[in-house]
Formats: sequence, C-alpha cells, structure tokens
Amino acid sequence: MKTWVLGSGSRGNAVLVEVDGARVLIDAGFPIRELARRLKSIDAPPTSIEAVMVTHEHTDHARSAAAGARAFGWRIYASLRTLEADPELRAAGAIAVRVGETLALSTMDLVTVPIPHDAAQPVAVVATARRSGIRAGVAYDLGHVTDATCAGLAELDLLILEANHDLDMLRAGPYPVSVADRIAGPRGHLSNAAAADLARAVVHRGLGRVVLAHLSENCNEPRLAIHAVATALARTRRGGIPVCAASQHTVTGPFLAHESLGPAPDPRQLSLDF
Ligand SMILES: [Zn+2]
Ligand SMILES: [Zn+2]
Repeated sequence: MKTWVLGSGSRGNAVLVEVDGARVLIDAGFPIRELARRLKSIDAPPTSIEAVMVTHEHTDHARSAAAGARAFGWRIYASLRTLEADPELRAAGAIAVRVGETLALSTMDLVTVPIPHDAAQPVAVVATARRSGIRAGVAYDLGHVTDATCAGLAELDLLILEANHDLDMLRAGPYPVSVADRIAGPRGHLSNAAAADLARAVVHRGLGRVVLAHLSENCNEPRLAIHAVATALARTRRGGIPVCAASQHTVTGPFLAHESLGPAPDPRQLSLDF
C-alpha cells in the first residue's frame, strides 16, 4: 500500500491510496484540472482511479467528484445522507454506502467510520489492503473525538489525522468569535491538542506514522501541530512515532504503510502552484 496526501486544508482535500496497482481517491476537493495535475505529477493518470470515496458534502472535499465521474469515469461512493445533501453527486451516479459496512473494491476494502462534524453524515475512511492486511485511515473534519471514531481507527498502520488549529492562535486569530466558536465546537474541527488525544487513544504497536492534515493556514503552524502530537505519542508505551504534516499546496508522500518495519523513507515533496 502506498498513500499520498495530494493536498489538505480548507481549500481542498484529496488522498490517494494505491494497493497492488489499483488506485482509490478519498475525497476530490480540488478543482478538477488541479486534481488531475497533482495526480499526473505522481504518475497516477486520472483515468486509472477505480473509485472515489467522498467523506462529506463540503466543497473542499466533494468539489470535483462529479466532474471526475463525467471526465474520467470515476465511480463515486458516499454515505446515504451525504448523497441526499448533494444533488450533484447523485446526478453523477454516486452510490450510497452504509456507514460501518465494508465496501469491497478490487484490491482493498474501505470501511467508513462515523465522525461528528457540521455535515449531513460525515465519515472517516479506513482502507485495508486485502492481500497484506495493511490499514490506512483518514480522519479529518471532526469536531471532537468519540469512542466510535476511536474504535473505527484501531489497528492502523498509517493514520492521516486532522490537526486543524492551535486553540490560542484560533482565539487570537482573524475570525469573529462566532466563527471561531464553530471551528472549535463539537461539530467543527480538531485542535492540535484534540488530535494528540485521538492519536494517543488509537496508538498501538503497528502504527508506523501519523500524517497531520487539514491544518489551518491562519490558526496553526506545522511545527506546533507536529510537536503536540509527537510529544503525546512519545509519552505512550509505543514511544516515538514519525509525525509529519501534509500541505495545502504540495503533494506529500508516498507514505508506505509498512514503513514501521524498516527505516522510514523521506516523503517526496513536490512543489506545485495552486
Ligand atoms: Zn474540510
Ligand atoms: Zn467539512
């Protein structure tokens, strides 16, 4: 299994998971031309995408799923109420999945996990490589950590996790109090401290790396997010785990979900204009 964060933040999110030659997108939140460009930059032609799982209907996650279905034949999946909330996805022939059920694709299984967020039926997604059993999870756009979310994210080899804001920077930042309250609220976004709590709750011997995602450009800094989560993990029995931050503007990866078995490779960073 190889995983790339094609970009993550309030201006667009997409994660590519590749298992035994088959490719699946989790979210398609960039304009279609930009998403196609990022895919091509890692030699993944848009026509090679087997399926797209849309985590929720917000534009920064769903923006070009329908356009990709029309242009490249992507099969779209999303939770039932996400589809009810998004006529464009329905018009593109998107298929409803039940939250918690296994969706069997050609080389991997996808399972959706309920998360609390200000959307119709948002989910985190866990991809399991069928041959090797390696598991990667993507959990962003969640306002707080629930037992159900932690249970769904157990036993991962790779965790891509929201660390949206530093609470002090959010409170001192440019947003009106009402907006800051919504971001920090129970159906908003995870703070660095809450991300650290979630990481600590799901850490286990096999977890090889944590990639922090959906960082706010106004109210966070990668070094603060990494420090919060890495420090929390270092205090667990598992000890230190590589923690890095994905970017809004560049592709990050590939992350090899079995890299815990050997020295962690340096993720390739590509600079792309956006
Ligand atoms: Zn988002
Ligand atoms: Zn959202």
